[in-house]
Amino acid sequence: MTVSNSENEMRLADSLPTMGVTDRRTLEAMKAIDRKDFIQGIFADRAYEDRPLPIACGQTISQPSVVGLMTQALDVQPRDKVLEVGTGSGYQAAILSRLARRVYTIDRHRQLIREARGVFERLALHNITAITGDGSFGLPEQAPFERIIVTAAAEDPPGPLLAQLRLHGIMVLPVGQSDTVQHLIKVTRLETGFDYEELLQVRFVPLVEGLGQN
Ligand code: SAM
Repeated sequence: MTVSNSENEMRLADSLPTMGVTDRRTLEAMKAIDRKDFIQGIFADRAYEDRPLPIACGQTISQPSVVGLMTQALDVQPRDKVLEVGTGSGYQAAILSRLARRVYTIDRHRQLIREARGVFERLALHNITAITGDGSFGLPEQAPFERIIVTAAAEDPPGPLLAQLRLHGIMVLPVGQSDTVQHLIKVTRLETGFDYEELLQVRFVPLVEGLGQN
């Protein structure tokens, strides 16, 4: 028996709550965005598997359940301005665009930004601005941000990103070395400093300095 794309898509959506993604708005946003739109070539057929998949420039589109858990932890509000570091395929940014007022997303690879812009345009996601750059410096000209999400792992939360987080703002990011266990953490900016909460173990590609070759 062959299973249709829409059945597979529904199965993935139905399995998210069993993996801890229970926030209604996150689930609705994920249902509205088809992961297949963000994967090209032979891997497109595997879009509804809960696993990271290869994209251009040797990078990956993250695992849907991890995208869901990060989105849920970020607790985006409708008036929020969000910064994402690590555009990749644009899938995470597209989901955030359903929840936030405006999303700025940065990647160090020009090709990924070019392709992601094309998908955002096709899907009429007009509240996303995709920029080529080294996202570890954030986007000072648009700061402060109510929410910041980083989808590549640094050893520690980058100082410029902490500085660009609004008071009571939330940042979600993986920390740890790329070849060892990394932890997804939630950082909340308080009057007295930063509160750090460890969420789960993850594995992300590293946050790399400077611009990519393409
Ligand atoms: N959020 C993406 C998605 O939805 O497809 C997945 C991101 S992928 C796991 C990590 C991305 O971080 C890669 O595209 C990589 O080029 C990018 N990256 C790594 N270091 C970076 C940096 N310093 N600044 C901006 N992007 C960076």
